[in-house]
Amino acid sequence: MNCLDSPFLCFDISYSEYWQLALDYWSGDDVAGRWKWHASVEDLSGLHGVPKKDVPKFVKLAATAVSLMRRCMDCDFPQELSSRSTVTSKSYGDYLCNACLAARNQARLRRREEEERQRFAAEHAHIAENCQRNKTFDYDGISYANAAIAFSIMLASDEACEVGTFQRSDSLNLCESSSLSSKLLGRLSNAGVLGFDEGTPPQAVEIGQDSKWGYFPHLVNWRFASDLGGRSFPEVLTLLGKVIDARDADLEYGGSVAEMWRMLAYDDALNHLSQEVDNYQLPDVRVGPKTEQAIWHALDHFSIPQVRREITNVVKNAAALSQHRDFVRRHALNTIPGNLISYVDRAVSEGWQVSPLLRNWQNEEPVLLTVLFNRVLGTGLPGFKTLSYSVLTATILNVDRT
Ligand SMILES: [Zn+2]
Repeated sequence: MNCLDSPFLCFDISYSEYWQLALDYWSGDDVAGRWKWHASVEDLSGLHGVPKKDVPKFVKLAATAVSLMRRCMDCDFPQELSSRSTVTSKSYGDYLCNACLAARNQARLRRREEEERQRFAAEHAHIAENCQRNKTFDYDGISYANAAIAFSIMLASDEACEVGTFQRSDSLNLCESSSLSSKLLGRLSNAGVLGFDEGTPPQAVEIGQDSKWGYFPHLVNWRFASDLGGRSFPEVLTLLGKVIDARDADLEYGGSVAEMWRMLAYDDALNHLSQEVDNYQLPDVRVGPKTEQAIWHALDHFSIPQVRREITNVVKNAAALSQHRDFVRRHALNTIPGNLISYVDRAVSEGWQVSPLLRNWQNEEPVLLTVLFNRVLGTGLPGFKTLSYSVLTATILNVDRT
């Protein structure tokens, strides 16, 4: 018997009657590279007068078998053999005993918990630091466009108007897309108008590589900075209204209105396009330079709700095309920008009356849009229905076209 290869037995004193069974069970030889047991379990059962199914159980009681050939890579303890198959089956890789395996898993878990704890602490630190920023702001010096944005938020949220705080900003319906309202919140924060409020959840902050960090504006609990002049928040709302109502008297008026119109109009058109593409179950829109150009071309000549109508018509045609045999759906989508440009050109040259696509003005249109037309421009719904960018800049504003 090759003693290096045979299991090493450690007998249990209380089961000496099965010691011989254990010895016989674990005895074997290396025969031309293959391990061969001296007696089968069936033979052992007859020889020792033990039921066959009980042989492994009594063997285990009588002695612990370990392999001296294979040791745990952490504690160097020899591998315990639970049955004959552990000896004969091929083993791969390094061996870890159960105790060391459990210890390693435990350590990994602790490491992960520690990382999690550190990340959490860092997020809290960022939030705490941000809560200290933008405590006060000089609302008398607010820019025209920021006044309109801040005014819209206070209009949409009673809490913001009363005590200066607001949460779940995505549901305020400030503008058509979440991405634009995120940008606007970030803009007010950078300007010092908005700060983080206590209770901002850690998920609002994201810590990336090199401990660079960012935040998700819609997850932040926001707080308007207190007025440097000591006004209450309802008084701040009144002040913002006055800034907006100054219109032409404010040097920034023309530029701010043009900027706001463009921002909201483009956002509205792009959002409407992806909604219609979705409605007609065409593949996702990829907004390339041609789509962008087509939208601006339409907005130059038509009002925001008229451009909605044009987009609806063009997408409807593309969807009809995609129903044709041999017409690839992706290709149907590609016809949209070009067709929008042609549609606009025909509508202009043939003087079509494009009927605006409207939603409920008070309750469904985004707050910033209604503030822009009702208060900033003072045209209300009629202006929304008719004002294209060309008309806006030519007749209402004296700004340079850019
Ligand atoms: Zn071990």
